[in-house]
Amino acid sequence: MTTSTLSRTGPWPDAARPDSASADGAAPKEILHFIGGAYVAGGGGRRFENRSPVDGSLVSLVHEASRADVDAAVAAARAALSGPWGRMTVQERVDRLHKVAEGILRRFDAFLAAEIADTGKPQSLASHIDIPRGAANFAVFADVVKNVPTEFFELATPDGAGALNYARRGPKGVIAVISPWNLPLLLMTWKVGPALACGNTVVVKPSEETPTTAALLGEVMNEAGIPPGVYNVVHGFGPDSAGEFLTTHPGVDAITFTGETRTGEAIMKAAATGVRAVSFELGGKNPAVVFADCDLDKAIEGTLRSAFANCGQVCLGTERIYVERPIFDAFVARLKAGAEALVPGHPFASGTSLGPLISREHRDKVLSYYARAIADGATLVTGGGVPDMPAELAGGSWVQPTIWTGLPDDSAVVREEIFGPCCHIRPFDSEEEAVALANDTPYGLAAAVWTENLGRAHRVAGRIGAGIVWVNSWFLRDLRTAFGGSKHSGIGREGGVHSLEFYTELKNICVKL
Ligand code: NAD
Repeated sequence: MTTSTLSRTGPWPDAARPDSASADGAAPKEILHFIGGAYVAGGGGRRFENRSPVDGSLVSLVHEASRADVDAAVAAARAALSGPWGRMTVQERVDRLHKVAEGILRRFDAFLAAEIADTGKPQSLASHIDIPRGAANFAVFADVVKNVPTEFFELATPDGAGALNYARRGPKGVIAVISPWNLPLLLMTWKVGPALACGNTVVVKPSEETPTTAALLGEVMNEAGIPPGVYNVVHGFGPDSAGEFLTTHPGVDAITFTGETRTGEAIMKAAATGVRAVSFELGGKNPAVVFADCDLDKAIEGTLRSAFANCGQVCLGTERIYVERPIFDAFVARLKAGAEALVPGHPFASGTSLGPLISREHRDKVLSYYARAIADGATLVTGGGVPDMPAELAGGSWVQPTIWTGLPDDSAVVREEIFGPCCHIRPFDSEEEAVALANDTPYGLAAAVWTENLGRAHRVAGRIGAGIVWVNSWFLRDLRTAFGGSKHSGIGREGGVHSLEFYTELKNICVKL
């Protein structure tokens, strides 16, 4: 592969960083791969456009990795396993990971600008969730790995001398990290943090829609003293591109993936060659169950966030809402009012509470479900189309927050993940019916239960088939707890010590005394 002549110090020419305004006519920013501690151009010379979902303008030109580029990244990651990184003590690794967390926070504004340029999400959201959690993912897992105990047993032997039998945690090797676009830095570091904490090296393939923060993180890694080759990034698409080249690469020891269920199926097939381990966080069609004895103010506030935050592009978001009949009309009216109060607009404008969808292509998909809902007999409570936006934002991927009632339970709109700012509300008459409706899905990622009855809360939470059930809350979780989905929503759990199960190889050592 050829090394870049564009930039030796960063993923873009200095004059066109995402945190600096580029003058009209300036060359577009170029996003390079990060391999072996340096930014490099793709050997194949292919680049693709990264466009703003806010107005359709060109954000950057992204280098698309060839198979040779991916080979180079995996080779750098393999070499780093036996270099200084492989010889570091846990404490030395932990110290560096804390420096990575500090480095992200030190460059908070640059990460914020980059994330917003790629996703268009409101500044208020990215500054409270995406960037702080991106940093926390390194600090939290550094502490987890430092404090986790391992097994130790004393064993009796026939000669009376005994034996010591203990387990030792070692890295799994080179981990491929494939991440989506909805929370780019947060979800990518959610995997890179624990992988590095356990002593692995990584090759990251961020979403083609959101390459910038993964690229920017390379600079932070270098500053934090993470040795070259420990963190690598290759850009590109999925099939017949960087994603497929990476997940089929024999030099990759395990694959961790967040994205659509169908993509997970393709990656699982790739992982079968060489029997590589996988950890999958996949799609969802998450229910909220709202009982008549709930605190309605809290239920409305929480459901507004769970249905419309990040323009509905949250895997844990609520797309199916079941409301006990006595409060059904009040709930629908109040959720409608809340949805209509959301303000779409420029990410940095004060008052903006709703960003665009990630792309025109994704908007077409979401709008196809809007049309399907009407065709399937839905009552449109609010939304259903594209909002009128000012001329300077008309090129963006805007869509109205949308609520329906009256759909049959077998409508595709109620069964398939839409991943947009929309939800269907249906009444129920008994706890039994509510649980059955909530569980009537191939997915099992998340659910929310709203009730002031503690016994009912425990009962229903226990009966809903999902990896996480919130009671009177949403998106609230200690990062040390297990996270993941059941059924079509994933394989395995990550978070706290559960991440260590995936990112380490346990070795059983038995010492005869
Ligand atoms: P996606 O599956 O289309 O893409 C995710 C990543 O996989 C991208 O980097 C893409 O380039 C790559 N990819 C696509 N095809 C591939 C292939 N054949 N081989 C290797 N890599 C491939 O998902 P998306 O549209 O980016 O993200 C939205 C989806 O992610 C939704 O389904 C959402 O529910 C899910 N998601 C799940 C969680 C979770 O924690 N369970 C979190 C966030 C998003």
